[in-house]
Parts: sequence; C-alpha cells; structure tokens
Amino acid sequence: MYDVVIIGGGLSGLMASIWLADRGKKTALISKGDPMCCLSTGCIDVFGGTSSPLKGIEKPPRGHPYHFVGLEGIRDSLNFFKKIMAGSGLNYIGDIETNRGILTPLGTIKATCLVPQTMKAAYTGDNEYIHIVSFKGLKDFYPAYITSKNENAGYSVFDAGISTTVGLATRFEDTTFRREFVAKLKSWEIPNGRIAMPAVLGLSSSVEIMEAISNELDRKIFEIPTLPPSIPGIRLFRRLKYTLQQKGGDIYWGRDIASVERSDTQIEAVTIVTGSRPTRVEGRAFVLATGSFVSGGLYALRESVYETVFNLPVVFPKKRAKWFNEDFFDIGHPIEKAGIRVDRSFRPRHANLENLFVCGSILAFSNIMKYRCGNGMAIATGVAAAKSLDRWLG
Ligand SMILES: Cc1cc2nc3c(=O)[nH]c(=O)nc-3n(C[C@H](O)[C@H](O)[C@H](O)COP(=O)(O)OP(=O)(O)OC[C@H]3O[C@@H](n4cnc5c(N)ncnc54)[C@H](O)[C@@H]3O)c2cc1C
Repeated sequence: MYDVVIIGGGLSGLMASIWLADRGKKTALISKGDPMCCLSTGCIDVFGGTSSPLKGIEKPPRGHPYHFVGLEGIRDSLNFFKKIMAGSGLNYIGDIETNRGILTPLGTIKATCLVPQTMKAAYTGDNEYIHIVSFKGLKDFYPAYITSKNENAGYSVFDAGISTTVGLATRFEDTTFRREFVAKLKSWEIPNGRIAMPAVLGLSSSVEIMEAISNELDRKIFEIPTLPPSIPGIRLFRRLKYTLQQKGGDIYWGRDIASVERSDTQIEAVTIVTGSRPTRVEGRAFVLATGSFVSGGLYALRESVYETVFNLPVVFPKKRAKWFNEDFFDIGHPIEKAGIRVDRSFRPRHANLENLFVCGSILAFSNIMKYRCGNGMAIATGVAAAKSLDRWLG
C-alpha cells in the first residue's frame, strides 16, 4: 500500500509528489497524459497584471486558492521549486517581488515571475541591439514581427536541415552541430548586442548549451518561448518527472482511473486500466490534481459540469447562458471560476472525505487566465496540499 496516491501529472501533482517523496512517503503518481505545462512558455506566472506578484498575493481575489496557501507558503513553494530546478542545471531566476519581462514571438513583452535562466537576458530595459536567429522552415516563429515592433533589431535565418522545435532542440544537444552553428554565426558579422533565438537550445542541458555558445560568440544570448509544443515547458515537465523517479516515486503514466473504492469517509483504492489487466492502487491518502477542462479534470455537459474521477461537487455558474461573456476575447469568462471548492486543509468541501486533498487548476475560483497565475498557482497549491496531507498522515 502507498502512503499517497497522486492523480494527475501536471505541475501541481508533480510538485505535491516530489514534496511528499522528499519526506520519505511511499508515493505513486498516476497520469492519463502529458500536462499543460508542456504547452506553456515554461515561465512561472504567479500573479500578473501588477508590477509585483506580491501585490496580488498579499490580498488575493475573493475565494482564490492563494488565500489558503498564504504569502509565506507561496514563497516557500517557489523556493522549493527553484531548488529542484537549480539542482538539475535548469536554473530559474526571479522572485515574488517583481514581474520581469520576456520577449514573445510576436515582439511583445510578457510579464512573468520566474523565468528559465536561458531567458534572463531578454529584457534589460535599455535599447541594446537584438539580433534574432531563426531557422529555415520553422513555423509559428516570425522574427519580422519582432523587428517590426523593435527598431533596434535585425534577423538572420539558419538552415539546420530540420524545422520542428523538438528536432532543433535535439540537434543542439550535439556538439558537432553546435560547432557548425557557431561558425556560421561568426561568418555573418552580426552587429554588437544580444542574440535571441527561439527556445530550442537543447532538450535538457539548455543553460550549459547557451553558455557554451555565448562564450564562443562573446555575446549574451537568450531564448524566446515558441508556440506549443514549447521546449522550455517540456524541459520543465521532464525534469520534475525525473526528480520524482530519483526520489523513489512510482509513476503510472498514460493511465486513466477506471474505478474508485471508498468507505464512508475515505478513498481506499483506485483501479487503473493497463494494457493487460486492471491494476488496483491502494493508498492511505490521495491527491486530486487532474487539472481543469483542458486536461479532463472537469467535464462540461449542456447545463452542468462534473469532476471526472471522484464525482466531487463542482462550483460553476448554474445557467449555461452565463458561462461566457458576450465578447469571446474577454479575459475572465464566468466559467473559468468552475472547479472544486476546498477548505483550508485542501480537502474538498461537502464531500465528507478525510483522506482526499485537491490542488492545481481544478480548484474553484482559480481564474488562471484573469489573474495570470497558472504555473505559480499549481506549484503553490501542490506543495500546500502536500503539507496538509503530510500533517494528517503524521
Ligand atoms: C497554451 C497554454 C499556455 C500557458 N502558458 C502559461 C505560461 O506561460 N505561464 C504560466 O504560468 N501558465 C501558463 N499556462 C497555464 C498553466 O500551464 C497551467 O495552469 C498549469 O500548468 C496547470 O497545472 P495543473 O497541475 O493544475 O494541471 P494540468 O497541467 O492540466 O495537469 C493535469 C494532469 O492530470 C491528468 N489527468 C486528467 N484526468 C486524469 C485522470 N482521470 N486520471 C489520471 N490523470 C488525469 C492530465 O493528463 C494532466 O497530465 C498555460 C496554459 C496553456 C493551455
């Protein structure tokens, strides 16, 4: 029997699992598929819309899960995250005092809280020249958008013989390819300033690769996140999954929950579907981290929304006509509040279950689009739910 079974392998489930495995708990993680962070920029938005995330966290919006984590809890969870990533060579920089700007493929500046070190030189505040190096055939990355918004920028296109982000990132792991790349860039006689590239500097050792190229060219280099699939998001996901394995956590990947066994007040086991036969996974406690609609944690019918694993009560605007604002592009459609309401211990309300804890974007009132708190909220609530569960296990 496991001490803890975590359902959902997104940022919230992975952080909860790592925190618990780190404290010696026998941990199993079950996930149906790859999470949303693989689509994200890989940056950790904690609270957007203000120059400092702290402003939003100190007085979180009404009902927001940050109320249950608290300022020190958020700070601790982000430090724990940074420590994991630093230990793996994928350093993140930043703190909750400041939102920093990164350059997007559209030439705009996105404000975010923690960024991979490979994006550190993106925004200096001055008007230093930026030379963008793109790749022949690479889709959804248009340096001309960036140069049209930034008069002190230019670009060149390198033919790597491959044009997908994953293919390019794989090539950058190879030192011979990197030598050819550097030689070509030297021959271009790029004006002084920084060099920007789509985020394809390797699948795992990106900081090392960036520093090696930067030293050769004697220029600062930074990555621009691309549209999904996003290599920085994939690096982040793979690194956390690897960390959990290193800490002894068992992982059941590509597995959905077929059935749940519960007593009056406890979940006792879940059964997962495997290729050969159903497997029963027993636990003393469970974490639900299955994400929102995109990942399948919530499912909408014509007039109702339900939670897909335990059939927990879901908060949502009752009338379908009220789910969306008139303007589709509005940020903050009422349906984005939908989710599971929890108490201060991250147990679902009105479910009478003492050994189930909920975290991540499935939580009610998260409004991750409106408050721009996606990955940050996943990390903070994942660690907070794990701490609460750990106290209960004793
Ligand atoms: C395109 C896009 C870009 C984004 N960009 C950013 C960004 O730049 N910065 C930022 O901070 N945030 C961003 N976000 C938001 C952020 O990625 C998410 O809010 C956050 O990662 C959610 O994490 P989570 O753990 O709550 O859920 P998820 O990442 O949704 O993970 C849930 C996991 O549960 C699994 N699951 C679901 N049902 C079951 C089941 N029945 N059994 C087993 N497993 C199940 C899913 O397969 C999935 O792996 C972006 C989101 C999207 C879609």
